Amino acid sequence: MTLPPRAEPTVAELLEGFAERRVGALARAISWVEDGEEFAGELLDSLYEQTGNAWRTGLTGPPGAGKSTLSDVLVRYWAEKGSQAALIAVDPSSPFTGGALLGDRVRMDQALADAGVYVRSMANRGSLGGMSLATGAAADLCDAFGFPEIILETVGVGQAEVDIMAAVDVAVVVLTPQSGDGIPAMKAGLMEVGDLFVVNKADCAGADRLKHEIESILDLRQTPGPMPEVVTCSAKLGDGIQDVAIAIERRRKVMTESGFLETRRNTRALARIRRLLEGGLRAEIWSHAQMEGKAKAALADGARPDAIAAQLLNEVLKKVNVCDE
Ligand code: GDP
Repeated sequence: MTLPPRAEPTVAELLEGFAERRVGALARAISWVEDGEEFAGELLDSLYEQTGNAWRTGLTGPPGAGKSTLSDVLVRYWAEKGSQAALIAVDPSSPFTGGALLGDRVRMDQALADAGVYVRSMANRGSLGGMSLATGAAADLCDAFGFPEIILETVGVGQAEVDIMAAVDVAVVVLTPQSGDGIPAMKAGLMEVGDLFVVNKADCAGADRLKHEIESILDLRQTPGPMPEVVTCSAKLGDGIQDVAIAIERRRKVMTESGFLETRRNTRALARIRRLLEGGLRAEIWSHAQMEGKAKAALADGARPDAIAAQLLNEVLKKVNVCDE
């Protein structure tokens, strides 16, 4: 017997689910943004006024640094203090891996759910505009749902992770002493994006040396905003977790008082608008304005690709000017 397809809820039903704090409604809403479902925008619009209350913390660093171990203990720490957390684990690698790297995290989910933490994994499903847009919208949904703490944890380090970290309030970079993480992290752009550096696995040799190494790299950093702190902990043993939580708190306080948080949130909103605009334009122009056909014809005439692109861009810009009048 084949089961009938599950009926999609309406926007109104999901809103009702949010009002009643039903986690199923949140889960479905996140699937909507992940899949680019047609009513996702309407839902996010309706919930927009309820956003802006949560703290968004990002956790990034090389695979094996202990990010999932750390986020696990951190969300429990917050839960014990009465601050319920939503934890979004993100694998922005190729859509073809289907989020295989999230395996370990998925296995930890039940224990966390029992502690009152909402856990969600998101893999790249090839969504237009990339993972940072989808994870940003998912964080908006958790925020509107009423979670005071949201953690975005990435599985590795790459440009997509750096983009995701640019969309949080406090980006925590997790490194370990064993793997000589300092230099690769610097190369991946993490030294610019990090607000707080955690040297995990402090139970292993070399943690203090790495801490000093990071501090001296940070001395050269030209990024605007308050200077990041470097703290050590051992997530597996549960040592120093309070220090990490306190350092996050301190960072939030400094950022709020200096006005830097507001600047960052505005920058984040602008970057989001820009990405959406670019993505939308790309899709629209190519499909609706017969660009592909025109480009093919020009290529057949022997024109140079760059010259064709410049010519087509000019045409679009002329149309935009006409609309302005
Ligand atoms: P992720 O890939 O960054 O999420 O790393 P995991 O949290 O999966 O941790 C990778 C491995 O490091 C696991 O075997 C953990 O048990 C171990 N680990 C995590 N934190 C610590 C720590 O503080 N000390 C030690 N010795 N091992 C740790």
